[in-house]
Amino acid sequence: MAWDFETEPDFQRKLDWMDEFVREEIEPMDLVFRGPADPFDPSLEGPARVMAPLKKIVQQQGLWACHLGPELGGQGYGQVKLGLMNEILGRSRFAPTVFGTQAPDTGNQEILARFGTPEQKRRYLEPLMAGEIASCYSMTEPQAGSDPGQFICSARLEGDEWVINGEKWYASHADFARFLLVVVVTNPDVPIHQGASILIVDRDTPGLEVIRNTAVGMRDEPGTGVHGHLRFDNCRVPAENILGKPGQGFEVAQSRLGGGRIHHAMRTVGMLKRALDMMCERALSRRTKGELLSEKQLTQEKIADSYTQITQFRLHVLYAAWLIDKHQSYNREVRREIAAVKAAMPGVLKDVIYRALHLHGSLGMSNDTPLMSMWATVPEMGIVDGPTEVHKITVAKQLLREREAAKDLFPDYYYPKAVERAREKIAKVLELEVGNL
Ligand SMILES: Cc1cc2nc3c(=O)[nH]c(=O)nc-3n(C[C@H](O)[C@H](O)[C@H](O)COP(=O)(O)OP(=O)(O)OC[C@H]3O[C@@H](n4cnc5c(N)ncnc54)[C@H](O)[C@@H]3O)c2cc1C
Repeated sequence: MAWDFETEPDFQRKLDWMDEFVREEIEPMDLVFRGPADPFDPSLEGPARVMAPLKKIVQQQGLWACHLGPELGGQGYGQVKLGLMNEILGRSRFAPTVFGTQAPDTGNQEILARFGTPEQKRRYLEPLMAGEIASCYSMTEPQAGSDPGQFICSARLEGDEWVINGEKWYASHADFARFLLVVVVTNPDVPIHQGASILIVDRDTPGLEVIRNTAVGMRDEPGTGVHGHLRFDNCRVPAENILGKPGQGFEVAQSRLGGGRIHHAMRTVGMLKRALDMMCERALSRRTKGELLSEKQLTQEKIADSYTQITQFRLHVLYAAWLIDKHQSYNREVRREIAAVKAAMPGVLKDVIYRALHLHGSLGMSNDTPLMSMWATVPEMGIVDGPTEVHKITVAKQLLREREAAKDLFPDYYYPKAVERAREKIAKVLELEVGNL
């Protein structure tokens, strides 16, 4: 029987262990290291020291860096199981780092494992997999994000070096990354999908400058945050620092973005479940006009609608994960499903987090609960890894490509035509039966 919504008891035991470990050991870090302390920055003394023994425990449990399968040097259990794990990790800001599954390192590991040379793997992938360093993936430019055709940051080969010139934008973790994977135009004479390459740039390479950092929302002081505006001014890297072949940049990038998008969605399920928990607790605790909020039908509707939307979204995420496991690739069918999930994500977040905020009244508006931070992720998830419109276009184009236009003025399902066809078919059966008598 192919359809099965049950988790194997052995793996469920691991999930139960994770659930308790995240709540008891990791969530306190979210509360103590708020503000500028970033879970992804390995150089931050305090968080790094608290995380080190926790990472060891995760490794002993065999749950470290589970996004990579054994064929890529990891110990992954596949995307469905990773989805169930990420639902738990999505509750906490620090949990993905403690489990070695934080973005953008996961995607970077995936492409280094797939396309890296043995030397690139030794130098960049191994310390990254061990959680010793951070990395950055830099594609977006100040003048172009969703339309790669407008990318102009370029690299030309001079002797045995690539010389990079141009600017990049919103390069997450560029400041503290040990290295960056940078998408550059290496052949401007062909379409970008054939003319871009990915170069590995050590963070301390002369000619690479972080002009300014940006943060999401209003959480940090202007000019701080983890998303870098970069300038490359005759920045030289060795010729062998190309990941994959010249011109293969988009193919390499594609195999990273699929994973990145679905992992965001998996963690989002965790955040949504947490918001529902908070909504229910508040409804069961707050009394107004002589009764609990939970006794009011309009509150019950909010809870029921949230539960239904979360369940629908969760099943869609797990279905997309199951497709990746089945095909072991990001083929067209898989890409469509990931795009559909990615496009649905901000809508579900908006509805559920808004209801949770709203039910908390003024407390929900304050900075004394996680709710406002969750609210900031609503527009973020509609932009990060490409805006919703672009993903909807992917879904729609694929569906339309698989279908045909009507052959004449009226469609096939136009009743007069359809009924005539049905009558003919049934008449044939009746004739046959009569003939057989
Ligand atoms: C938190 C965060 C982290 C990020 N991290 C990274 C990173 O590490 N590395 C990196 O390279 N980039 C990163 N980005 C950048 C991200 O990939 C881009 O923001 C995204 O691709 C959109 O590009 P843009 O911002 O230039 O928006 P634009 O391309 O200017 O799009 C703006 C809006 O125009 C509309 N639009 C665009 N295209 C279409 C279309 N085809 N049809 C209809 N409407 C359209 C949409 O409404 C869209 O929201 C990050 C972004 C965020 C928010």
